[in-house]
Amino acid sequence: MADPSFFLPEVRAFLEQQPVKMFIGGQWVPSADGGIFETLDPGDGTPLASVAEGGAADIDRAVSAACDAFADSGWATMPANERAVYLHRLADLVDKHRPILAQLESLDVGKPLAQAAHGDIPNVAETLRWYADFSVHARLREPIAVSGHEARQVRFPYGVAAFILPWNFPLLLVGWNLSPALAAGNTAVIKPAEDTPLSTLYFCRLVEEAGIPAGVVNVVPGYGENAGKALAEHAGISRMGFTGSPEVGRLIASACGANLVPVKLELGGKGAAVVFDDVDAAATAEQLVQAVTLNTGQVCCTATRWLVHERLYDAFIAAAKEAMNAIRIGHSLDPATAMGPAVSEKQRQRILGYLAKGAKQGGQAVLSGGPANVPGHPGGFYVKPAMMSGDPDNVCAREEIFGPVSFLMRFRDEVEAVELVNRSPYGLANSVWTRDLDRANRVAEALVAGSSWINAHNLFPHGVPYAGCNLSGIGGGVLGPETFFDYLRPQSIVRPLD
Ligand code: NAD
Repeated sequence: MADPSFFLPEVRAFLEQQPVKMFIGGQWVPSADGGIFETLDPGDGTPLASVAEGGAADIDRAVSAACDAFADSGWATMPANERAVYLHRLADLVDKHRPILAQLESLDVGKPLAQAAHGDIPNVAETLRWYADFSVHARLREPIAVSGHEARQVRFPYGVAAFILPWNFPLLLVGWNLSPALAAGNTAVIKPAEDTPLSTLYFCRLVEEAGIPAGVVNVVPGYGENAGKALAEHAGISRMGFTGSPEVGRLIASACGANLVPVKLELGGKGAAVVFDDVDAAATAEQLVQAVTLNTGQVCCTATRWLVHERLYDAFIAAAKEAMNAIRIGHSLDPATAMGPAVSEKQRQRILGYLAKGAKQGGQAVLSGGPANVPGHPGGFYVKPAMMSGDPDNVCAREEIFGPVSFLMRFRDEVEAVELVNRSPYGLANSVWTRDLDRANRVAEALVAGSSWINAHNLFPHGVPYAGCNLSGIGGGVLGPETFFDYLRPQSIVRPLD
């Protein structure tokens, strides 16, 4: 394990609990069957903490606590501005505890501490505040002008919102999913990923401290096939928000379909960057290298297919190689680290496996990647960034690798670039890089996905919806004003006029 002398005292005390318990109905409880599992520091491959392992009985307790809180705690019926006060208080507590949350996130995911401290954690506070403020101004009672009737539509929270979340941005995704649901007056049960439950559990301490009524937020850590499955199948939930792989997304959608529970699926991607020949090769290469190595490439929407105009191709490759070689790989708590380990040995093997399969299919290694050794951390799950080029049908150009691997392709003109991007069955996010804004906007609209970014990649301003289409998701997405309304049940009230 990373040297515990670097841990903040609060982090050390939190990790030393045997085990870290789950949070149900405002109580810290062990799992019903006493089961525990270990979460690892991927930077060393050693146990970081033992955590209570939830199963079907714990999910049942959590859903019941959330149902009770929906019915009795006053959360669902209090005016939006009162709920907003709690959410602002929670956001302030997230800010206050940022060093602790950031260290936990960094250790559990393996992401560089600065990224957690200046990216993930402040984003959680910002999302809570954004939806709290939006909820205060949203109109939930609207008169409808129709002949012969007096009519209006009113909106009410649904009940229990369930969330099953992945390991790449654990607390940031709690923020994106939980904030609109709570601001709308729902209660929640969260099943964090088994690889990274710690920040979500620590966050529950802040939920308590903010005075949010018991049972409004419940967190049951555990494995997907046990706790996750039980939550997706539970008849007591009213909404499901799932973020993760398309394979598991299908299982969640079927389980919720059986109970006719509406589902939001935020799934994988195979984002492309289309680079025209009027940009600065070195500056653009630098930004795309940053994008594909962010969080060790474990980012659903990041730029993994790089389509470069044939006139810029050679200069771009040279610059990208230089920028990738300069990426400092290391333990997440080392301030010099730009890229940490993969989250698990399983994920590392997935990345290495794709590189081998891609090479077998004729992909050429521009930078070969492979396992990386970090002195002092021999057991860590480190990989080097890689660049491959070749046929657009290569497996590494088609499938989501979820690692720091880019696939380079050259194109002659706009039409060819758009066709190459749109071959993908995914539809999460792409970017266009050019100084010609007419062309940028034209191409941005022609790329089939939930988001097109211009001269940047990975942009998530609050208020701009972020969603996938095709294999990347259904259900309306997150981060937009619409997301708030997704957590409200519309009801029409009509009276005939004499
Ligand atoms: P995953 O699908 O393996 O797991 C996601 C969650 O589902 C975890 O909590 C897991 O425990 C749970 N789960 C697994 N099997 C289950 C089952 N049978 N029933 C119920 N729950 C189950 O995904 P992952 O490996 O954690 O995350 C990587 C994937 O997430 C990638 O495909 C990535 O692109 C995607 N992702 C998408 C977004 C987005 O916003 N679109 C954001 C982050 C990650």
